[in-house]
Amino acid sequence: MKKCMIALTAAISASLILSGCGDADSAAQKTDGIISGAKSAVESVADKAAEAAEAAKDGIADAAEAAKEAAGAVADKAVEVKDAVAEKVAEVKEAVADKTEEAKEAAAEAKDAAAEKAAEVKEAAAEKAEEVKAEAVDAAAAVADKAEAAVAAVAAAATAAVNAPAAGTIRMITEATFPPYEFRQGKEVVGIDVEICKAIAKALGKELKIEDVEFDSVLPSLIAGKAELAAAGITVTEDRKMQVDFSVPYVRTGIVFIFAKDKPFEKADDAKGKKIGVQNGTTSADFVRETLGQEPDMFDSPASAFAALKAGKVDAVIADIDPAKAVIKGQDGYDISDLLTVEEYAVAIKKGQPELLATINKVIEGMKDSGELDKITDEWTAKADAAAAAEEAAKPAEEAKPADAPAAAPVVAPVEK
Ligand code: GLN
Repeated sequence: MKKCMIALTAAISASLILSGCGDADSAAQKTDGIISGAKSAVESVADKAAEAAEAAKDGIADAAEAAKEAAGAVADKAVEVKDAVAEKVAEVKEAVADKTEEAKEAAAEAKDAAAEKAAEVKEAAAEKAEEVKAEAVDAAAAVADKAEAAVAAVAAAATAAVNAPAAGTIRMITEATFPPYEFRQGKEVVGIDVEICKAIAKALGKELKIEDVEFDSVLPSLIAGKAELAAAGITVTEDRKMQVDFSVPYVRTGIVFIFAKDKPFEKADDAKGKKIGVQNGTTSADFVRETLGQEPDMFDSPASAFAALKAGKVDAVIADIDPAKAVIKGQDGYDISDLLTVEEYAVAIKKGQPELLATINKVIEGMKDSGELDKITDEWTAKADAAAAAEEAAKPAEEAKPADAPAAAPVVAPVEK
């Protein structure tokens, strides 16, 4: 447009200049020339303008296109940003969720740890309480023990005073149904054990007094202080060693079957499931229980067990070999087996008297060395046999009465010397 104006102004100026000079024709010619020049100038300007307009139009379209592209890009960017934001939000959300889960777990862990600690504390408290309780119980028990010990000491002193032997005497406790070790001759208790205890009393400068009780009361009576010496063909056993002190042994012996010759018993197995008579509280009773695994029939002496055998109440008897020999003396239909055990007899005293024990051992060793022990053994074996024979001869021809069932309470029968 500016270019058009310039061309027109130039054409008009040129015609004005020319009209001032020359003739009219040439002026007109010249004007025409100018006009046509102007015209073409205008046309060219118009063309140019059109071109320019076209170019402008193209430019605008391009610009629009670019703008559109730009808008698209912006839109894309916006979508991208939106996605990125959404992603970020999701991430954050997830992170928050994770963090929440962690926090929850941590809380649970903390709770568990607290519970554990509480349990530990509770347990420790319970342990402590138990300890304190146990200490209190121990302390109370100790007090009770002391009181009991004091009462026992007083009682023991009283019992000792009551049980004390008369001055100048020493008491032997025995069971006088065990020939040739101890048996009765009339009212008197005699036998190998009596001779040994007399020698001990002599060594102590004392007079011997004899107490006769059932065999299973011999050691309990000794322990209770009713005598100072126990001698009753007592076998030394581990069990008894825990209750009393034993002297050196004075004989080696053992137990045997006593049986009817028509029903012999030779070895332990023969007695399995059979009725076996024994004296109460003896190693024979232990043998039936421990070796045969059965309960024996109890009697108060080897002689009463033998009477039961004769009466057919038991199948066999088990007793120490020497009294067994003594009871079958003169009884044709009966015999004894070989030894079932090896045992040793000794004198028993209450525990904790080393001096008394030493004296007793010295006496027994002296009797062994001098041959005195062998001498009295032979002597009293012969006397026991003679006594049994005499007793048998004095009996009416009838069958021996069956023995009673085991007696209950022990009978303590002091014997005159
Ligand atoms: N010697 C056996 C024991 O000590 C039996 C003693 C007895 O009966 N007197 O058991």
